Parts: sequence; C-alpha cells; structure tokens
Amino acid sequence: MSKALTTPDFSTLIKTPSPVVHLDDKVARQAGVSIYVKRDDLLHPEFGGNKWRKLKYNLQACCQQQASGILTFGGAYSNHLLATAAAGAASGIPTIGIVRGEPASADNPTLRRASALGMQLQWVDRATYRQRHSATYWQDLRARYGEVYIVPEGGSNVRALAGVAELVVEMRAQLPRFDVICCPVGSGGTLAGIVGALAGAETAMGISVLRGADYLVREVERLLGVPDLRGRWQINDTYHCGGYARVTRDLVRFCDDFAAHHGIPLEPIYSGKMMYGIFDLISRRRWPPETVLVALHTGGLQGLAGMENRLNALRAGGE
Ligand SMILES: *Cc1c(COP(=O)(O)O)cnc(C)c1O
Repeated sequence: MSKALTTPDFSTLIKTPSPVVHLDDKVARQAGVSIYVKRDDLLHPEFGGNKWRKLKYNLQACCQQQASGILTFGGAYSNHLLATAAAGAASGIPTIGIVRGEPASADNPTLRRASALGMQLQWVDRATYRQRHSATYWQDLRARYGEVYIVPEGGSNVRALAGVAELVVEMRAQLPRFDVICCPVGSGGTLAGIVGALAGAETAMGISVLRGADYLVREVERLLGVPDLRGRWQINDTYHCGGYARVTRDLVRFCDDFAAHHGIPLEPIYSGKMMYGIFDLISRRRWPPETVLVALHTGGLQGLAGMENRLNALRAGGE
C-alpha cells in the first residue's frame, strides 16, 4: 500500500501573482491600443506556464481521493507531462506519463527531465494513444497502475478551469481595467478557464495553434458546461502556421524580433503563434483605439531546447 498523500501547498510550488508588464510597441501605439503581457511563463523558475494553473485543483483532488498517484498523457515534448512530473516531485505524488510514440524519441530534454524528476514513462503506439479519452482504456490503466488519479492530455478538465480562473482574478488587482484577454488554444482548457472568469464587459480571444477551430469551440463549450450564449469569446483560426507544432520562417523571425525588442522570450508552438496573431490583428485594426489587451504568456519555454536545430535551419533560410 502506498503512503497517504498530503495536499501540497501550491504557494510553495509556484510564484503568484505572475507579473503583468506593459509592452512599449510601435504597432500598438499606431493603432491606439494598449497591450500588456501576463507572464505566467514566470510562475516556476524552470518550467513556468499554464499547466501549473490547470494542475492546482487536480493535485488537490488527487490527494483528497487518496489516489496512488497521477497518471496523464502527452507527446514527447509535452509541457504538461513535465509540469506534472515537477509538481509530483515537489509534493511527493508519484507520476506516470503515457507517452505517444517510440522510446527512440525519448532522448529529448523534456522527457529526460521528466524521467529525472521521477515520472514513470510508458510508451504507447499511436493506436493505443488514440484511446486516451476512452473510459474502458482508463479502466485498463487503473487495473495496471492501481487507483491512480487520471488527468487528460494537456491537463484540461473541469477542475483545471478553477485554477486558470485565478489568473483573471490576479489581473483585476494588477490592472485598472482590461477589455480583451488573449491566449493560445491547444486543448481549450485555458481559454475555458478564462471565459468562465470573465466579468462586466471583458472578453476573451483564443488563437488556435492547430487546425480545426470548430472542434475547439465545442470543446471549450463542453468544459464550460454551457453553450456560448453570451458572445464573450471567440477562437481565431488563422495563425496556426500549418498545424500543431508546424513552424514557419516568418513565425520564427517574429519570435526572435519580439524577444530582442521586448526582452520576453517566446516559443513558436504556443505563445509565439498567439503573439504573432495578436500583432497581425492589431495592425489590421481589429480592435478600436483605447482597447486594453492582455496577452497571456503560457510558458512552454522548456520546449525550445528540443527544437533549436529546427529553428536554426529556418533562421538560416530554409522554408
Ligand atoms: C498546453 C499549452 C497551451 C494550450 O493550453 P490549452 O489549455 O491546452 O488550450 C498553451 N501554451 C503552452 C505553452 C502550453 O504548454
């Protein structure tokens, strides 16, 4: 029998409130809008990001249910697997990661670190991984790994929303006013958490990092538990640059320029696509003058180490 789990004190795991910084930017000035960045990438010194927000109440539930540990799913570069591994290591909760692909691709900085943090990694082929939302597969996993608390891929479930909502509450204390919160959308949990926390005239815009925004709209509605009747949010589908984890030279250039100019690093899978989209929309006058925008920096910078070669090839002039 494994030992009893105690609910971790989350304030020792991450540093909140994450800072909000104003961007002094010519494109925004010309359009008459203000833009701030909510720096959730700084929540944790090594792997900051939105996955901590989503984990908070899941870790709590895992401990309250006296599960034997957390089991979750991800790809070989998953920010979520790594945050789960780090949270587990810091709070004494055993972690199991079901990883899509071949052990051959295990030799990357993300999974090496997850493994060093004590996460037990289980490789599965694509067909098996496709069952990751199936109740029977979850039963099989529990039969194999014990009474684990299972968190879906990306950490997005209803409990994730309450953790994300806290960043909106923080922002109300940090800014006198904001009109639009922008965030990248991968599985939809972060956007759903933000939307659920909106008040007054605040709105949210998600920038999809993958093709198929229709599916994501339904997913956000499912997580929120109510159909979108309020017109408070939307998902923009034009900045995925070809699909999930696809990267173009323009995008990499944008991320490099942004980091050089503002001193804020971006990665091209999530935060880079979001910021690229926001600045393109600002230049197209998507928002009227006086609008106050906040871009949520969702972190993910740990993933840069595993893609340097690819990015350098693009920087050097490949397509
Ligand atoms: C997972 C992730 C996202 C996407 O969040 P969802 O809640 O899955 O939509 C955005 N940015 C980073 C850095 C992430 O790791």
